[in-house]
Amino acid sequence: IPEYAFIGRSNVGKSSLINMLTNRKSLAKTSGRPGKTQLINHFLINKTWFLVDLPGYGYARVSKSAKKTFQKFITEYFSKREQLISAFVLVDIRHNPQPVDLEFMTWLGEHSIPFSIIFTKADKLKPMAIENHINSYRDILLETWEEMPNYFVTSSSKEIGKDELLQYIDDTNSNLKID
Ligand code: GDP
Repeated sequence: IPEYAFIGRSNVGKSSLINMLTNRKSLAKTSGRPGKTQLINHFLINKTWFLVDLPGYGYARVSKSAKKTFQKFITEYFSKREQLISAFVLVDIRHNPQPVDLEFMTWLGEHSIPFSIIFTKADKLKPMAIENHINSYRDILLETWEEMPNYFVTSSSKEIGKDELLQYIDDTNSNLKID
């Protein structure tokens, strides 16, 4: 069964997004507390793919050794996953591009792991500001990448981006069967 991994900094809105995608109100726990999602959770969606919930990274108050442990952990996850089709890197649409996110995307690229970006909490900004923020990401990403990575704009509180995201995964899965 194909797997899609969801990952991002703590508090980016990952649990809320997972709840939106799985139609549950409180399956993945949303937390005010950082680092609460400790383990990898798998959610079987439509009996056709696994949504893999990875722990949040890059929380500022985490110690250096905790960061190392996390790095080892994700490195192990990504090196073992034969069913992994693609990762989704979540970033808060309100924030400017953060080194930890950019480094992580570069790391995925170096390991030939396909990924898309998910801009979360889109309801917090006006459309014009969303466009500006995506453009600043584009400018920075184009220093490393030949083209802007695939991306989605979502809001879990306003149910924005859900259908596109699920459709994209369905399409990707259909293409896998043809190949
Ligand atoms: P996680 O730590 O990445 O799993 O993030 P959570 O899903 O627990 O969300 C962190 C905080 O952001 C919570 O207070 C959520 O209510 C809030 N949040 C998450 N998604 C959205 C969204 O789409 N819009 C708004 N306005 N707030 C959100």
